[in-house]
Amino acid sequence: MAHELHKKAASQIKGEKCYICGKKCTSFCDSHSIPKFILKNIAESGHVYLPTATKNQDIEVLKKIYKSFPGINEAQLFKNICRDCDNKVFNSIENVDTTLKPFTNKEYSLYALKILLHDIYIKEYCCCLDSLNHLELTGHGSIHFDWLADIKDMAGNANYYIDALENHAYVNHNVVLDVVLEKKVNFACVTKLLLGQSYTGKPIYDLYDYGVPFGFVYVLVLPIDDNHTKISMFYRKKHKIYNVLKNEFDDMTLEDKLQAISNLIIMHTEDFTCTKRVIDKLRKIRKIVSEEVSEFSIEEYLQRIKKLNESKINLFNI
Ligand SMILES: [Zn+2]
Repeated sequence: MAHELHKKAASQIKGEKCYICGKKCTSFCDSHSIPKFILKNIAESGHVYLPTATKNQDIEVLKKIYKSFPGINEAQLFKNICRDCDNKVFNSIENVDTTLKPFTNKEYSLYALKILLHDIYIKEYCCCLDSLNHLELTGHGSIHFDWLADIKDMAGNANYYIDALENHAYVNHNVVLDVVLEKKVNFACVTKLLLGQSYTGKPIYDLYDYGVPFGFVYVLVLPIDDNHTKISMFYRKKHKIYNVLKNEFDDMTLEDKLQAISNLIIMHTEDFTCTKRVIDKLRKIRKIVSEEVSEFSIEEYLQRIKKLNESKINLFNI
């Protein structure tokens, strides 16, 4: 039954046009937000783990979307652009040499666009699957207005990057961090964060105000080979609201920055892949992070960071 719903949802959200070039498209490319040459570096028997593996019950829509232990060919997929665009637009960032060098606005723009395309696809899939599920149970569909607002924000940002590409230009970014560690970490992450508060609890966005178009902080953790991992965190220059986060990071040591990024990822996103060893550690702290981040106060948010620090779990050191 669940399998049937998946098939139905996949066919319902299949569009007719490539999201980037706008040309009619019948066969979309299997694109990956985390490039395959990165996924390969943390794969075990060709598979990677997702944080949903730490959940016991198969009750959430997200769990149905993200398999807990996908093969690298099916991990972090999105299918809303044509093969031509996937090659033409993203090929330049999918190699070791480029990843080892400091990124420029070109690489930041292309990764941000990849993240947005992936998240739009997944959110549309979630909406569709949830509605079909609801239809089956109750006889009528359902609409999540907060998810639709999310899709609108992501599409607004994605279109900005695509317009720039059409003009042979790239979008300007502020860079919080761009380093290459001389070791391989056991997780990979190509994701965005939407923050209601900074790391030390200063207000950023009111996440309940759907009238405001939100911007995002993008986070990349790319284990390149056995001795190198690229870590980047950046946001569009236009989204000055995140300057407070950048200022906080500017005052930290590298070690503290990595702990902070680890905490932010664990608290805010399910969107990373890792090894079994990391999953086993994350299971132990599931309780600390099992509630929605936006649903508690700044005091509770800071409390949660404190607990994570006390747990001594740092994704970069597992
Ligand atoms: Zn295209």
